[in-house]
Amino acid sequence: MRLTDHVDLIGSGAAGFDLTDPLDCHVYLVRGARACALIDAGAGYGVEAILRNAGAAVPAYLLLTHGHADHAGGAAELARRVPGLRVLAGPPADRWIAAGDESMISLDRARAGGTYPPDYVFPACPSAAPIDDGARIDLGGVTLRAIATPGHADGHTCYLLEARGHRALFSGDCVFTGGRVSLQNLHDCRIPEYAASLARLAELEVDALFPGHHEISLNRARRHLTTARDILARGLLPESTT
Ligand SMILES: [Zn+2]
Repeated sequence: MRLTDHVDLIGSGAAGFDLTDPLDCHVYLVRGARACALIDAGAGYGVEAILRNAGAAVPAYLLLTHGHADHAGGAAELARRVPGLRVLAGPPADRWIAAGDESMISLDRARAGGTYPPDYVFPACPSAAPIDDGARIDLGGVTLRAIATPGHADGHTCYLLEARGHRALFSGDCVFTGGRVSLQNLHDCRIPEYAASLARLAELEVDALFPGHHEISLNRARRHLTTARDILARGLLPESTT
């Protein structure tokens, strides 16, 4: 599904557009002149369909927003099937993904709560490596910059795309359209850090917002970021989505 000149949606589950497996988050393909990148991997069951939707593109990078299984569960299988794929995630989530630590990524809780089938397992992705806040990846005419945004989960990282004056934010589970957020009863969901991350994002001039689930905003997307910031500035919490 073509979204912009440089971005395709190639995976999406039941909390999205039902392109691939129901458990999948939105999976984006970013195309530069020299290289391509994937943003998030889905939960794993949809890898075949995701690669089919990528067509002839061979991604050089898999940039994970965080360690939750609907975003990172497909990383191991993608790394196995795409030669040379560099898998990156914000620390400490890179270590949890590399080790397949189901407790630290809160899969034990989510599985017990019925979000995942009882037999779902998170495959360790040993090649997962850290990406630092501010790191820039040049795909050729398109750059992606990592922005550390803890709050929804430790290590959560957004990625800012810049291409010839066009800017888009891949926001994972940090912020959604309407300024909604994702607050969960999990060990590393932290409200003060979340508020600081949202304040930081609201400083960005962005045209498009590409979150990990739900609707996508193709233009005038900064309003979603400032909405969240303004609600927090009043001492309240934005609406939380699932
Ligand atoms: Zn999440």
